[in-house]
Amino acid sequence: RNNKHFRPTKAIIDLNAIKYNVNELKKHIQPNVQIIAVVKANAYGHGDIEVAKAALEAGASMLAVATPDEALHVRKHIPTAEILVLGYSPASFADYAAEENITLTVYSPNWVEEAKKVCNKSLKLHIKVDTGMNRIGVTTVKELRSLYDAIQSAEHFILDGIFTHFATADEEDDSYFQKQVHRFEQFIKALPEKPRIVHVANTATTLVKDARLQYDAVRFGISMYGLAPSKFVKSKHPFPFKPAFSLETELVAIKQIGPGESVGYGATFTVNEPTYIGTLPIGYADGLIRKYSGQDVLIDGKRVPIVGRICMDQCMIALPTAYNIGEKVVLIGKQKNEEITIDEWATKVDTINYEVPCIITSRVPRIYY
Ligand code: PLP
Repeated sequence: RNNKHFRPTKAIIDLNAIKYNVNELKKHIQPNVQIIAVVKANAYGHGDIEVAKAALEAGASMLAVATPDEALHVRKHIPTAEILVLGYSPASFADYAAEENITLTVYSPNWVEEAKKVCNKSLKLHIKVDTGMNRIGVTTVKELRSLYDAIQSAEHFILDGIFTHFATADEEDDSYFQKQVHRFEQFIKALPEKPRIVHVANTATTLVKDARLQYDAVRFGISMYGLAPSKFVKSKHPFPFKPAFSLETELVAIKQIGPGESVGYGATFTVNEPTYIGTLPIGYADGLIRKYSGQDVLIDGKRVPIVGRICMDQCMIALPTAYNIGEKVVLIGKQKNEEITIDEWATKVDTINYEVPCIITSRVPRIYY
């Protein structure tokens, strides 16, 4: 009963698509390069545990998350896989991380000193180098050396990896990217010894840049979900990736309204002729933000628009005929010969595809097949 969802609004996650994408991606990496499956932010909204398991099954050897809490959640369900926290962890988390065999990202010698005080178990660390994102990471060789020394002098800390992240890998202009590559190489040269895993490549870097940048491991996020990081990467690499995320619901009410009648808050959509208006049980509290008003959805394989303002829990669509209550409606995905993609949604609200599934809230159950 606990797993039963009574509202018909659901995100359907195709785990075979995830596995297929990882297998396709494997063909584009050098032999012996490991795959780090990026499952942060609940696997870009797809569901961290199920996606992580699918990725591991398809050949990923490590999981990456953004936060300590995400790491603990994954660890609870997946006892053995390597887990790397890509973002900030407070030093107070070090002991928990060591206990749970979670690898942390470090970028400050002070952090190491603080963590040393609370952690007396073996803890694996990856150094983050800031080569141009200007987000987190050491920014000078001097800082890198003192961080390296701090880690070496800590009895229980193991330097397992070093990495950086690129700001423009998905763009055609290569200049900033090359500057970052050059800086990273300088940092690597300054290290007395190479840690086990050097990794810099996200999806875009792996697919369109020099294969040497795959180093020991690549970090696949967006491509694993069947989406392209940018139009440029898509044009250079028109992969037959399979999107894994669909969003579906059902018609829960229908009425015909006459000329002069309006729909929804603010009465912003008014009809000039008799029009069927259907109601869908999905709204901005589900992540269908109000900017999506006007976006098409699919019913019976046909495109129909969301009309009027989107409510918190519901929205309305204009229909060509009187469909039955319970008729299936696809917001993202395929129906008959039509498809509405995550990219289409992203364009509609002037954002990137990454953001679209991430902001579908936890009220929408993820159903796996
Ligand atoms: N590595 C880091 C540090 C990231 O922040 C991200 C995602 O933002 C990724 C890898 C995965 O990138 P992508 O989804 O473009 O493959």
